[in-house]
Amino acid sequence: MPAGEFDLIDQLVRTQFIQRDEVALGIGDDAALLDVPSGYELVISTDTLNSGVHFPEDTSADAIGHKSLAVSLSDLAAMGAEPVAVSLSLSLPEADEVWLKDFARGFFLLADQYKVQLIGGDTTRGPLSIGTTIYGKVPKGQAIRRNGAGPGDVICVTGTLGDAGAALLALQGELKLTGPQEKILLKKLEYPQPRIFEGQAIRKLATACIDISDGLVADLGHILKQSNTGATIYVDQLPVSETLRQCLDRASGWHLAMQAGDDYELCFTVPEDKQAELEDIRIEMDLPITYIGITEPRKGLHLMMPDGSLETLDIEGYEHFRSS
Ligand SMILES: [Mg+2]
Repeated sequence: MPAGEFDLIDQLVRTQFIQRDEVALGIGDDAALLDVPSGYELVISTDTLNSGVHFPEDTSADAIGHKSLAVSLSDLAAMGAEPVAVSLSLSLPEADEVWLKDFARGFFLLADQYKVQLIGGDTTRGPLSIGTTIYGKVPKGQAIRRNGAGPGDVICVTGTLGDAGAALLALQGELKLTGPQEKILLKKLEYPQPRIFEGQAIRKLATACIDISDGLVADLGHILKQSNTGATIYVDQLPVSETLRQCLDRASGWHLAMQAGDDYELCFTVPEDKQAELEDIRIEMDLPITYIGITEPRKGLHLMMPDGSLETLDIEGYEHFRSS
């Protein structure tokens, strides 16, 4: 890439006003330096978004900028961590000033919202691909992992499920939407909101947590597998948005809520004796949390269907369910 292009990226990066105390040295040297406050652990996660694979090729640069940071923030949310810093690796097919400015707008708007400082970056020429490595902090020993769920825990999710999946179906021509419906659902797909505050709010109560990137069944499956427990989900309790109800029949809405990815909501478990405390937090902080099921000693994921029938998926079934 020509030298001028690097200057431009440099300029974009320098416009960020967030200066974190934890960043001892930011952009400009061979590497950045992070200061982890005593009593905290550093939480690190890396994601890559490839054009045509993780987002449709005609997605706006602004949305790509937002989403590339949002998916990383979502992983920190799932650990109950506070975001601190991010580094960015951009592969671009051509030098395009307008595209870069739009990308930076989407990226930094979200970065500023969660006070995340960009501490490093790399730009190369190649197929459009965005890599982010995010750094967060969490009080020592308090990160929410996937392996802590015990039998009898209540299973919860944030927000609504299936909206991003419905938008994808519409883009593929498999679902007809009205203009307003498309606008609402596309926003959920292109501008997912990471559940940072929710993740920190539930940290002391949750026994396990994951962010839903691959669909509820597949991602809850990771918790069940790593916690060595089973679960029953009450399908008619799944939170489905008003928009999804309008454009799909109930059965299709529930199916999408169970198997569609890209919503970046949190799925977590809380011991039954902590449920009252969670309910207090939910009301006090006005958190969008829904109770959808319970973990249990018998293995497998049991789906209690609205007609009273029971569908059971074994561990292999979790993955298969996504593609079915
Ligand atoms: Mg994740």
